[in-house]
Amino acid sequence: MFAHPETSVFSSWTDEILVAGEWRRGGGDLVESRDPATGEVVHAFHGASLEDVEAAVSGGLAAARDPAWRDLLPHQRAAMLHRIGDLIEERADLISAVQTADTGKTRKETRALALSAAGTFRYMAAALETMEEAVTPQRGGSLTMTAHEPYGVVAAITPWNSPIASDAQKIAPALAAGNAVVLKPPGWAPLVSLLLGRMAEEAGLPAGLLSVLPGSGSVIGNALVAHPKVGKVSFTGGTTTGRTIGRVAADKVMPVTLELGGKSPTIVFPDADLDQALAGVLFGIFSSSGQSCIAGSRVFVHADVYDDFVDRLVEATRKLRVGRGTDPDTDVAPLVHHRHRDEVAAMVDQAVSEGATVLVGGHAPEDRELEDGAYYLPTILSGVTNEATICRDEVFGPVAVVLPFSSEEELVTQANDNEFGLACGIWTGDYRRAYRVARAIDAGTVWINTYKQFSISTPFSGHKASGLGTEKGREGIKSYMRQKSLYWDLTGEPMPWGRH
Ligand code: NAD
Repeated sequence: MFAHPETSVFSSWTDEILVAGEWRRGGGDLVESRDPATGEVVHAFHGASLEDVEAAVSGGLAAARDPAWRDLLPHQRAAMLHRIGDLIEERADLISAVQTADTGKTRKETRALALSAAGTFRYMAAALETMEEAVTPQRGGSLTMTAHEPYGVVAAITPWNSPIASDAQKIAPALAAGNAVVLKPPGWAPLVSLLLGRMAEEAGLPAGLLSVLPGSGSVIGNALVAHPKVGKVSFTGGTTTGRTIGRVAADKVMPVTLELGGKSPTIVFPDADLDQALAGVLFGIFSSSGQSCIAGSRVFVHADVYDDFVDRLVEATRKLRVGRGTDPDTDVAPLVHHRHRDEVAAMVDQAVSEGATVLVGGHAPEDRELEDGAYYLPTILSGVTNEATICRDEVFGPVAVVLPFSSEEELVTQANDNEFGLACGIWTGDYRRAYRVARAIDAGTVWINTYKQFSISTPFSGHKASGLGTEKGREGIKSYMRQKSLYWDLTGEPMPWGRH
């Protein structure tokens, strides 16, 4: 159904979503995917309705309980995940083209996201095959062991900034654990999730184990979270939404994984390799057009090198090439949506009204070729303190604030004085300092002399308002399972009251 080459991809899309193994027209409102480079509609289709939610959850539960899935041995379920991973890799170009049209991202990035999703399926397949349960130390007459079992139906709710990778990060371990998954992709970038649904089907995943329900977060997302038969929610998105989901989950006494927002510090010490630091700071904030939860948006630079480093950073930022995601020379592509671009612009304008100085950027490009797209120039602000709104709130766009610091102690206090605790970058040539600061910073991930490097084999979590729970890594599968303990009597002795 998804013909290649790229130009004919969208003519072959149909008005269908995946509900419990059936491709059918959604019963909900029209969802429009627009190319943010041009504002043109890429594909319009009907999203899910509450009836679709009901069908997806009930169908998912039935599929998860079906012996054909439930009784598969780990290596057999792993084979399915490998097939999905292989198909994703085979279709990486197609996935990349669809995702670039849907999100505006560069082809280089969307291809990398596709390959990362393939790797996630393979890693989780391997983790599943090698996962071990424990016979726990015996403390009485029983053999004791711990086992892990699937929840049944998992709801996976994802944001628009790196769709196929965040979909895979939830679907692969949840399926590996033996669950069915109902995926609620974001309103602004739903297409690649539907494509993933097609590929899972083509790989032979039994019907009902994956539903894909695009639609409104507050209606469809909320209905999924609140549904009594959904046993776990794995959410990636904004902190406000995460709090709402957490409240519903608390009422249900249901586990949730929340991967939320950030306002990450990236720190340049004077003893750093400053060329390397410059490239890292630039990439850390402006890659993905700054639409990254882990973007290094607060750049702390030591006073000894501040003037020189900031001058070079501004110059390098000015040289970044802003353009279409389909242009191989583009560094900074459009933002995901015109509305989002306007929100980013409004935050910069507010910062300026509160006293910030624009060192570079600060507006949309004036190039006529880009005037229809949701572009915003990479922007660096200075002249504010860490208390300013622009240093508190997540912009989720290509906007960095530079902040001078003088001592390590003051730096750590400032870096931690923020609601979020997602990531941090440290640039220094002193390994003792690197270790000391890394341990002192409240963040789930700290990069030392590098930034934005990810591996599916390394756990990922947010501290403070950046999240709850952990994804990735070998233990990632277990976060989609509930634990059970077994006691087997080995003695044959009657229980204490057995003689009465
Ligand atoms: P968002 O919170 O607006 O939406 C995320 C998803 O939640 C979407 O699918 C949306 O439709 C759905 N949703 C919205 N309201 C809901 C509700 N009441 N109940 C259930 N679902 C609901 O976030 P966004 O704008 O799509 O993404 C940007 C945010 O995601 C940023 O804050 C970013 O930092 C965060 N993010 C975090 C990580 C991480 O791993 N920590 C990764 C990527 C993005």
